[in-house]
Amino acid sequence: MKSQKTADISREKSGKLFEKAKTYFPGGVNSPVRAFKSVYGSPLFIEKGDKAHIWDADGNEFIDFCCSWGPLILGHNNTDIREAVIANIGNGLSFGAPTKLENELADLILYNNKYIDKIRFVSSGTEAVMSAIRLARGYTKRDKIVKFEGCYHGHSDSLLVKAGSGLVTFGETSSAGVPKSFADETLVIDLNDTEALTAVFEQFKDQIAAVIIEGVPANNGLLLQSKEYIHFLRAITKENGALLIFDEVITGFRLGFEGAAAYYDVQPDIITYGKIIGGGMPVGAYGASNELMACISPDGAVYQAGTLSGNPIAMAAGIATLTTLVQPAFYPTLNATTAAFVADLRAYIATKNYPVKIFSVASIFWFAFSELEQIQKANEIQAESMELYKVMHRELLNRGIYFGPSGYEVGFISAAHTTEDLEIAKKHIFAALDLVFQD
Ligand SMILES: *Cc1c(COP(=O)(O)O)cnc(C)c1O
Repeated sequence: MKSQKTADISREKSGKLFEKAKTYFPGGVNSPVRAFKSVYGSPLFIEKGDKAHIWDADGNEFIDFCCSWGPLILGHNNTDIREAVIANIGNGLSFGAPTKLENELADLILYNNKYIDKIRFVSSGTEAVMSAIRLARGYTKRDKIVKFEGCYHGHSDSLLVKAGSGLVTFGETSSAGVPKSFADETLVIDLNDTEALTAVFEQFKDQIAAVIIEGVPANNGLLLQSKEYIHFLRAITKENGALLIFDEVITGFRLGFEGAAAYYDVQPDIITYGKIIGGGMPVGAYGASNELMACISPDGAVYQAGTLSGNPIAMAAGIATLTTLVQPAFYPTLNATTAAFVADLRAYIATKNYPVKIFSVASIFWFAFSELEQIQKANEIQAESMELYKVMHRELLNRGIYFGPSGYEVGFISAAHTTEDLEIAKKHIFAALDLVFQD
């Protein structure tokens, strides 16, 4: 029997808001992927969220698996976070002077994270990574950095760079406005390729300041790397006097309180954070050893500053969030919930023999419309597979399930997703897959 596509939900009010937004903002949005360019229809304008649910301007309700792209590990409108924000907001929004709240958030993080001695708060993940790169260059007195094809590190100039062709390549800019001379300082190689790593260090001996990698690459599908590879990466950077930067803007406080560093049991030189650290408010951070952090101004020669850095309201949201995350049962529970959810989806897919895989780690999951058993490099993702994601995405929206508007994006499960939410979501995902793979 042929599955019927579910009737489209009303997007009348969202549609009108989007038309208006297009007169204000490029593409009608303040961050490109929100524009729904890779899926059917136009963006939904969200009015409110509560726990795992969101409501759009037309009153449609969804179970949310985007979770603001990761920060909302406690779901929407979390009581503790809300109360912490309200309790502090009456004292003023910003002073440009230190507050006790910065100490409290730092203490919570540093006391429970053995991989960094000192931290600096900034206002976004992009800023954290940009600062970490500058620190690496300042400390090593070298200019080149190595990044991996398929890892996203925010939109600073040095990192809007993609691979050319060849094992080791000078980056090509992936955005207009990035000077070629900047891209020349960024070398781009494939993930999960020890040969490419060896080659880059041979070819650019004593020139590489740092290698940067996402804790677990999760911005271009979920590209799970082997532990051996990550340990090889640690060893080869050390041998060559280059720093290893873990960009844990997604994985920090997601894979566990100590993120990917603990997950792989590896000591990076610099770690960047974002997303979860501010509990939905704009916070980023970078941390490292006392020795490295002594290079940062005003102690050292590497300049980095921010008018709103350590903003008290954002710190309060971060403290409330991380206070929940340090509870011993938090990650085991959330990760087990996710594992069970993913196992049920996989079981359904197996009985139907559908050519789709679900890759998952901790509370992150990704649908890969592929026959491959493993996908560990960006070029193993087939662009055509995104057509199938589009069909699934539209069907899920029509059924009240909100996934990120691109097949390259991962899904997140929060502690606010109830058993009932996940049962409902599974049923709709099964039906959406039936629609995608009918005939
Ligand atoms: C989201 C993200 C960034 C950028 O953070 P923004 O807060 O969007 O600037 C950097 N690195 C990684 C790994 C990310 O996922």
